[in-house]
Amino acid sequence: MKKLLTRLSVVSALTTSLLLIGCSSTKTDATTVANNVSKVDFFADNALGNSLAIVQHPAGIHLNGITYVSYQGPLEDPYVATYNHKTGEWKGPFKAGVSELGKDPEQPKLIDNHGKPTMIIDDLGYIHVFFGGHGGDKRHGKNPLGNIHYGGNKHTVSKRPYDITEWEELDNITPFGTYNQAVKMDNGDIYLFYRHGAHRSDWVYQKSTDHGRTFGPAVSFLKHKKRDDIEADDSWYAWVSKGQGDDIIISYDYHVCWNYNANGNRGHTTERHGLYYMGFNTKTGEWKNVQGQPLTLPVTKEAADQQTLAARTGGVGYWTFNGSAHLDANGYPHIGINIGKDLGAKTGGPKQSSYYKWTGEQWVGGNPVYTQARIDNTDTRGDFIIKSADEVRFILGYQDQTDGVIGYFDSTDGGATFTKGKELLRRPNAGWALTALIENAHPEARMIVAEKVKGTNWNKIYLVGDNGPIKRPSNQVNLLTEEHKIRIK
Ligand code: ZN
Repeated sequence: MKKLLTRLSVVSALTTSLLLIGCSSTKTDATTVANNVSKVDFFADNALGNSLAIVQHPAGIHLNGITYVSYQGPLEDPYVATYNHKTGEWKGPFKAGVSELGKDPEQPKLIDNHGKPTMIIDDLGYIHVFFGGHGGDKRHGKNPLGNIHYGGNKHTVSKRPYDITEWEELDNITPFGTYNQAVKMDNGDIYLFYRHGAHRSDWVYQKSTDHGRTFGPAVSFLKHKKRDDIEADDSWYAWVSKGQGDDIIISYDYHVCWNYNANGNRGHTTERHGLYYMGFNTKTGEWKNVQGQPLTLPVTKEAADQQTLAARTGGVGYWTFNGSAHLDANGYPHIGINIGKDLGAKTGGPKQSSYYKWTGEQWVGGNPVYTQARIDNTDTRGDFIIKSADEVRFILGYQDQTDGVIGYFDSTDGGATFTKGKELLRRPNAGWALTALIENAHPEARMIVAEKVKGTNWNKIYLVGDNGPIKRPSNQVNLLTEEHKIRIK
């Protein structure tokens, strides 16, 4: 069952940029405009809300000299653009699908933010985007693996290989998914990982052996269930990526999902604890902990505590917000996780990106990457690259007084200490939404970041790498329409 998206909506972003170019061309010829036009640091101005995150990934992929990027745009729809590293040419953004989020006045929050796009390019060159889910709602029926909340998870694919201009919808994944994460193995198999519902749901994966045209059934790998000691449910947040060879690696933290108590106060909060790690051999189907002991699926809280716990992360009062994991040359995992005092609580502190690694015998680490952030009491977050046994580089978004900064933090002692390295981007009065590292990243384009400015939900969005942001002609970047601005300030 394939539905073509309306051609009108697909080309709306393009039309806007063509119109803008058209306006400039009335004064002088197009070539002159192309030569004289000034360039700006951002590539689009229509990213919406928390338009990017570490968890929905890959959000960007570099392949054959082109970096493909995705983000949450107007009406919470997914948008995709490309940058050609050889010619310096930008294309798009094009709307890559129509989300169930962001349209309905009944939507519980003005901007839901959970349906940000996740991207994969299959071995035939088709670009796939997964988006729009926050657990599904009652229109979708009963969720067999958890609870529901809103939206509906969707899958679209480019109509032609390596071409982002037109998209079609594939009806082949469950609407209950959220926090999509896509992994393509060396043999072309695609694994889609996600939480199968709202925050009281199992985490699952589905496997495709035909380039994402069909998927096998959902397999639970992290179990949600009622606790019998306290009034709460076990729940999880996972980050999944390709390991070495046939392996997939998973780092995760534990969410204690409190029930409403008698005065109705508690309920779901952002309370999360601990750092856990495990691996999945896709060839043998075996799941193992870091020591190589087998795990039984779905992994329960009890089994996770016994077999997969990496760290308790800071003790009582310290909460977590999971980050990313990467393997070193030995196949040992290194993990970035954000830790802070009572995160999300009114009296709570900011999250600080912290680093752990497995030495082959034990987990070590836990200090903030940017130690000044703990002193300044500011938020940091990002992803990291393992350059060698001794060299680790984080890319962090952080605050410096009122400026928002994206910069490198480098370690040459195996992650024991980090020093502030090159600054990639600095903007006054800004905060950041940012992605995990772009897959197979070109050094010019390692991460997609969105500048969040107080007083507006619209973000300028940047593609940053070793030379800072990749620039774009200023007459191609103003995509936000009056209609968008009237609907959401
Ligand atoms: Zn919860």
